[in-house]
Amino acid sequence: MSGSFKNQAVKIAGITIHPGEHRIIELPIAKLYTHTDLSIPVQVICGKKAGPSLFISAAIHGDELNGVEIIRRLLKNTGVKKLKGTLIVVPIVNVFGIIQHSRYLPDRRDLNRSFPGSSKGSLAGRLAFMFLDEIVKKCQYGIDLHTGAIHRSNLPQIRADLEDPEVRALAEAFSVPVILNSNLRDGSLREAAGSIGVKVLLYEAGEALRFDELSIRAGVRGIISVMRKLEMLPALKKGRHPIEPFMARSSHWERAPESGVLRPIVALGARVAKNEVLALITDPSDMFDQTEYEVRAQFAGLVIGRSNIPLVNEGDALFHIARFEDIGEAAATVEAFQNTAENTPNPVFEDQPSV
Ligand SMILES: [Zn+2]
Repeated sequence: MSGSFKNQAVKIAGITIHPGEHRIIELPIAKLYTHTDLSIPVQVICGKKAGPSLFISAAIHGDELNGVEIIRRLLKNTGVKKLKGTLIVVPIVNVFGIIQHSRYLPDRRDLNRSFPGSSKGSLAGRLAFMFLDEIVKKCQYGIDLHTGAIHRSNLPQIRADLEDPEVRALAEAFSVPVILNSNLRDGSLREAAGSIGVKVLLYEAGEALRFDELSIRAGVRGIISVMRKLEMLPALKKGRHPIEPFMARSSHWERAPESGVLRPIVALGARVAKNEVLALITDPSDMFDQTEYEVRAQFAGLVIGRSNIPLVNEGDALFHIARFEDIGEAAATVEAFQNTAENTPNPVFEDQPSV
């Protein structure tokens, strides 16, 4: 992809965006039952010079908000506007869900289980179909931004189909410490995009209905790194030391052995040994004797996801533990990543003020 060629125009919702143009487009979708018009805001930066086409989507789950802020900060960087190729960003895909602070659509379906959808299907299916048709099919690459579910936090991590070498290289370029291999057939945007040859990374970080600063910074930096890798943005002059990511061999959830009040002991990002006590559950009907149940790690690993609510039912998923070949190195990288993210005010473009 030589930068000397002129970029091509892109057409979304019947509107043509020519090379050198930035446009905001309202993608019309079904009305609310009050007959209020509803549309998905889409921003398109069509670079003057040829290069890859990339979409970035957030809030496919309407209560997952970190990605909305990641996209705002990304677009604030003037460097991004000088890109090669075409960037299509959709900060809020599930416009229904965000109004209700809900993961779901009004038909109670999960949009990220409704792909590829159909123009004659349920509301979720129609929205999925239109998103695939109007946005995803116009691109070669995509990054889909997510957070943990309500009351759950995720350590910044990339989920991708690592059997595809190009996807793997982009996942590594994102520079978060943990990568999970995942090629599920689950009706997700990532799966549907993959089946039509569009390569998608999924970024998971933080908690639903909250902004998490570390997750947001790592997300902005990761997207910029991927855009550099794709040569949409120039390479850094002096090489920063990228975070060397670790591929998890597998992961599993430790669940509550009993119902009760939970006191977690280990933090997100912590390294845990096999059989280590992760949390204690107290029986609230037995405050005199203080009967306690231990939640223990079945395997050594890193805590990459955690429940934040102290009230648990038996069987609730509490700690998401990832296993690695070299757990010591992976743990050291997570620590270095957390320190760097906390101590770097704006790690993206050195010549720009903090956002
Ligand atoms: Zn999600």
